[in-house]
Amino acid sequence: MNRDDHMSAAVATDKAPQVASRPEHAPNTREDSNAAIPFHEPSIGPEEEREVLDTLRSGWLTTGPKTKRFERLFARYVGAEHAVALNSCTAALHLALYVHGIGPGDEVITTPITFAATVNVIEHVGARPVFVDVQQDTLNLDPLLVERAITPRTRAVIPVHFAGHPCDLKAIHDIADRHELVVIEDAAHAVGASYHGRRIGGLSPVTAFSFYATKNMTTGEGGMITTDDEDVAARLRILSLHGISVDAWKRCRRGAYKHWDIVEPGFKYNMFDIQSSIGMHQLAKLDGFIEARQRWTRMYDDGFADTPEITPLSRREGITSAYHLYVIRLARKRLRLSRDEFMGELQDRGVGVGVHFRPVHLHPYYREKYGFAPGALPVAEEAGESLLSLPLFPTMTARQVTEVIRRVRDLIAGCCQ
Ligand SMILES: *Cc1c(COP(=O)(O)O)cnc(C)c1O
Repeated sequence: MNRDDHMSAAVATDKAPQVASRPEHAPNTREDSNAAIPFHEPSIGPEEEREVLDTLRSGWLTTGPKTKRFERLFARYVGAEHAVALNSCTAALHLALYVHGIGPGDEVITTPITFAATVNVIEHVGARPVFVDVQQDTLNLDPLLVERAITPRTRAVIPVHFAGHPCDLKAIHDIADRHELVVIEDAAHAVGASYHGRRIGGLSPVTAFSFYATKNMTTGEGGMITTDDEDVAARLRILSLHGISVDAWKRCRRGAYKHWDIVEPGFKYNMFDIQSSIGMHQLAKLDGFIEARQRWTRMYDDGFADTPEITPLSRREGITSAYHLYVIRLARKRLRLSRDEFMGELQDRGVGVGVHFRPVHLHPYYREKYGFAPGALPVAEEAGESLLSLPLFPTMTARQVTEVIRRVRDLIAGCCQ
């Protein structure tokens, strides 16, 4: 079986359906020491259920009062002036480029250690993605390499806060200011994270968030874009709904009938009230979710501290991670297994795993279009062959974390050279 077959057959990717979820009030049977531990489990409670039911019975299903409320709550939480709710983070990233007029002939610098969407949207607007390598310890974009990759065509940088740990934003903003670049943060992993005491979402011209099912907070599918710029926010709202001047909620309010105008050919990217019903309660629980993620992360770190075959990601001074993923890298030379074989073994032992991420520049479309050969971005490429993500979600129990640590250590003990 070749490597890619193995990947698709045995390995959960970011977008794979989630493993069995436990109904909220079902008895907890997960304490059995042989039980499977899923990669992810959503945390949806009676508050979300009640709010969705309320919306279903309210007679207003699409974008309306609950979405407005969710936007206000979200903007306040991250410390941004404006938040525009969208149907995905992909839509948020696309609109962020579009609203800044980035298109054919332009270059956008980003990281190869990211999900497809970060880079695909650069293609969608007709610009050219320019990949730079990542820092060894965090796998975040390396600001020094960003500066070196700048050309007269460079218009924007998209840093990705990998695994929830914010990039070195000060260095990135300094470079962007010097070269008049727009910083568009891909904060899909980083809702709730902060950089030197300030929450991610209020620091760059635009920040994109994801509420995909496996993210730190979810609306099933969904996203948000934040900005302090009132004009940008107003245009984002119009672009998110066909480019028409008045949204349905405003059209249906009392008073004189209001016609709508198409002011530009926009997109169909709006979030609707059923999603927002879930989102507002997820937001209220977010800090608690992150606390739990942090607790399990510390347990993992301690559990692997004396295991030289495993290197977890580093965390840097002054930065508070959102603890979205627990990523480890394997010292492959010390093990008799490849990363993919290691993951297969872990799955056989009932541990859900994921790969975040194989470097985007080596995927067929990008490799062929831009002629990348292996070796172009050595840190990202080595990481892409050796990293994997272990289960990390708020409803995990300490027993489950201990079990994952035990199963990983047993596997290493059995295959160490
Ligand atoms: C999940 C993810 C996205 C896309 O989010 P959607 O809401 O599914 O569009 C973008 N970037 C990164 C880094 C992601 O992990």
